[in-house]
Amino acid sequence: MARKRKIVYSSDEGRYCSKCGRPQDLCQCNAQKKAKVKGDGVVRVSRQTKGRKGAGVSVITGLPLNENDLKALAKTLKKKVGSGGTVRDGVIEIQGEHRDRLVEELKKLGYQAKRSGG
Ligand SMILES: [Zn+2]
Repeated sequence: MARKRKIVYSSDEGRYCSKCGRPQDLCQCNAQKKAKVKGDGVVRVSRQTKGRKGAGVSVITGLPLNENDLKALAKTLKKKVGSGGTVRDGVIEIQGEHRDRLVEELKKLGYQAKRSGG
């Protein structure tokens, strides 16, 4: 059956998404798929003390956000807990041990947040 199908090769082949028909540059299909695979919908708040000063940092992973939104969220959370922090590689780091507070705040914002680690 498959053999009978004529495959036409053209220079445009592969440049447009077969799903949405948009040019690959504008296609969001894969991005959405990636975001889905990336997390299980649960935002995890863990702590990292290795190579850190004092109480270490609270690390928030699994947020389905882009860099700009992460930065905006980090800003909000920093204000809430009254601590400094940063966004690195899609992860929000907040100085100090604020896991319980961060989980609480994330839940308020509608995220399925969970405290992780000991
Ligand atoms: Zn597409």
